[in-house]
Amino acid sequence: MISIQQITEHVWLMDDSGEATGYVVTGTEQAMVIDTMNGSEDVQAVARTVTSLPLILVNTHGHPDHIGGNRFFDKAYLHPADIQLIGQFVNETDRALLPETVLTQEGDVFDLGGLHVEVFDLPGHTPGGICLLLREDRILFTGDSINRHLWMQLDGCASLETYLKALDRLAPVMERADWILHGHARGLESITLYQAMRQGVADLVNQKDMQVTESDPAYRWFGGENRMHPFDGADSVICYRPDNIWDR
Ligand SMILES: [Zn+2]
Repeated sequence: MISIQQITEHVWLMDDSGEATGYVVTGTEQAMVIDTMNGSEDVQAVARTVTSLPLILVNTHGHPDHIGGNRFFDKAYLHPADIQLIGQFVNETDRALLPETVLTQEGDVFDLGGLHVEVFDLPGHTPGGICLLLREDRILFTGDSINRHLWMQLDGCASLETYLKALDRLAPVMERADWILHGHARGLESITLYQAMRQGVADLVNQKDMQVTESDPAYRWFGGENRMHPFDGADSVICYRPDNIWDR
């Protein structure tokens, strides 16, 4: 079940069964849907309860809990580097239901009428992860790339060393945002989450003799057992594979 609630003047948060969040951003001419979550019901119909403007769907990345409801739309914007994830995670029957994929990447700006959404590449969690800056409202939509439960232990995730460089490259963008809305959120988070999470990644990359990793607790998930590195308080962790901290 998907609930929807207004959280700022232009932004609505959609929550799909407490498992993933998507957003509706309304300008004066168009509205943007950011991620379709698991798609447990008609996401377009949910968005239609708050706006009658033409809808643009953009996916922050290609994981199934972010594109699950794409089938309710005519087309979806996705970074080219994440196209391969659709082949990996979506079975053939469901793939036939997916809409046309339109490519988007850093440099693209969507004009919603009075509001502009700018695309930035942030590869790491997936190769084609993007962040979306809602310029006028200083809100950064980060998908799974900046959150309080960062998954970097998956096959296909960049090394933490490479991810740190990608995070640092976007430091100037963080100066243009006050808020983060990520893909598993309850509401607005301060942009300071970026600095805190970046520091957690840096602590792992800069450690000597695996001292940090050896004191990190085990992280058990459906794909196996890895490690998790706490940052910024008890609820925030970076999940990672000890053999994928540095570039090889
Ligand atoms: Zn993801």
